[in-house]
Amino acid sequence: MENLWAATAPAITPFARLEADITADVAIIGGGYTGLSAALQLAEAGKSVVLLEARSMGYGGSGRNVGLINAGLWTPPDEVETLIGDTSGKKLNAALAGAPALVMALIEKHNIECELTKTGTLHCAHSEKGLADLKARLAQQKARNAPVTLLSREEAAERLGTRLFHGALHDARAGTLQPLAYARGLARAARDNGAQLFEDSEVIRAVADGTGWRLETREGSVKASQLIEATNAYECRKTPPRYTPVYYMQCATDPLPDELRRKILPGGEGCWDTAMVMSSFRLDAAGRLIIGGVGQLDAPGERVHFSWAARKMAQIFPDLKGQGFSHGWHGRIAMTGDHVPKIMETGDNRISIFGYSGRGIGPGTVFGQAAAQWALRGDRSVFPVPAVPNYREKRSQIMARYYQAGAVAAHLTGARRKG
Ligand SMILES: Cc1cc2nc3c(=O)[nH]c(=O)nc-3n(C[C@H](O)[C@H](O)[C@H](O)COP(=O)(O)OP(=O)(O)OC[C@H]3O[C@@H](n4cnc5c(N)ncnc54)[C@H](O)[C@@H]3O)c2cc1C
Repeated sequence: MENLWAATAPAITPFARLEADITADVAIIGGGYTGLSAALQLAEAGKSVVLLEARSMGYGGSGRNVGLINAGLWTPPDEVETLIGDTSGKKLNAALAGAPALVMALIEKHNIECELTKTGTLHCAHSEKGLADLKARLAQQKARNAPVTLLSREEAAERLGTRLFHGALHDARAGTLQPLAYARGLARAARDNGAQLFEDSEVIRAVADGTGWRLETREGSVKASQLIEATNAYECRKTPPRYTPVYYMQCATDPLPDELRRKILPGGEGCWDTAMVMSSFRLDAAGRLIIGGVGQLDAPGERVHFSWAARKMAQIFPDLKGQGFSHGWHGRIAMTGDHVPKIMETGDNRISIFGYSGRGIGPGTVFGQAAAQWALRGDRSVFPVPAVPNYREKRSQIMARYYQAGAVAAHLTGARRKG
C-alpha cells in the first residue's frame, strides 16, 4: 500500500541531479524540514547555499509523519529543564513553545498548500493513570502561561466523537498539516529565493580540505566553507546509527461519508493517546481517518500491525468497524534516550542535527533556522540546545530490536483482545 502523503501532496517541479563541480558558502545534506528550513533562511539572507538530497525532497521522516505540529517535545518541560539544566532547558522550551507559530508563519509567508489546520491537538487519556499524567502536564504548561486546557470525559467525547477516553489535553498552539506538502513547499520557497537544491544526489564522501568541505556525489561535487548535516533517521551510510531507530506505521481509510465526518473529530484536531505503546489518529483534508502506532510494515509483523490498526480504529470509532484501508506506510524515527534532539559540532565548520524522537515538524524547522544562523554568524549561542562534540546513543541496536519486538507483541495482544 502507498504512502497517503505521497499520493495527495501537490506536485512540485523536480530538482536536477548534481552533475558538475560547484562551490557555495554553505552545503547542506538532507532535504527534510531541518535542511530545507536552513536552506530557505540562508537563501533569504543572501548566502549561496547548496542542498543535496539522496532521493527526493521529503523522502525521509518529513514525508511520512503524522503531521501533528506540536509545541515542545514528548518530554514535559519541567523534565527537559532537569535533564539538560535549567538555563538550557528554559531556552529549549521557549524555542519549541513557539515552533507551531513559526511553522504556520512560514506556511503563510510562502503560500504553502499543505492542508494546515490551526484548531490544536488533543492528547487523550487512555486510563485514569493517563489522566493523572495529563493533569501534571497541564500544571507545567499553565506555569508557563501556555494556552492548554484539560477537557473532561464529556467534553473530550464531544470533540473526539468517541467516549473511549477519560479526558484530553487541548493545546491551542498546535495544529496539523500534510507533511510532504510542507516539505515540498519549503523546497519550492528555498529554490525561489536562490538556494540550489539537487535530488537523486547522495553524498558519498565528505572530505575536509583545510579551507572547508568537499562533498562528493556520483556525478559531481560541492565545495563549501560550512557544512550542515540534516539526515536524522534517514542517513544513507551503513555505520551504526547515533540514535535508536524506531518504526511508526500509519493506515488511512477512504474519505468518510459526510454523516461520519460530522461526528468524528468535527474540529479537525490531531490526536494521540497516553498509552505506553501509543496510537495516533487524525483526519486529512479529504476526511480520511488516519490511524497510527509503533511498527514496521515491510517486516515480519506487518499483518499484525494492519490487523491491530483495523481493530484499534473500530475500538475508538465503532462506526468504522469493517472499514478497510486504502493507504499504509511507515517511517523511521531517530530516538534518543532523553528525547532531546542533538547538535553535534566537531569544531571544523560542520554540524550534524538529529534525534528529534518523533517530534520534528516544529523542532526541525526551529533547528534548521538555528543552523542557518550558525552559518551566518558563526555563533553557537543561536543553538536551541548546547552543541556537543560527539554523541552516540548507547545500546541502540539492542533497544531498536526491543522496540520492534515490543510493538509486535503489544499489537498482537491488542489485536486479539476486543480492542
Ligand atoms: C512515522 C513518523 C511519524 C512522525 N510524526 C510526527 C508528528 O506527528 N509530529 C512531529 O513533529 N514529528 C513527527 N515525526 C518526526 C519528524 O517527521 C522528523 O523528526 C522530521 O521529519 C525530521 O526532519 P529532518 O529534516 O531532520 O530529516 P528527514 O526528513 O528524515 O530528512 C533527511 C533526509 O536526508 C536525506 N539523506 C540522508 N543521507 C543522505 C546523503 N548521504 N546524501 C544526501 N541526502 C541524504 C534522506 O534521503 C532524507 O530525505 C514523525 C516521524 C515519523 C517517521
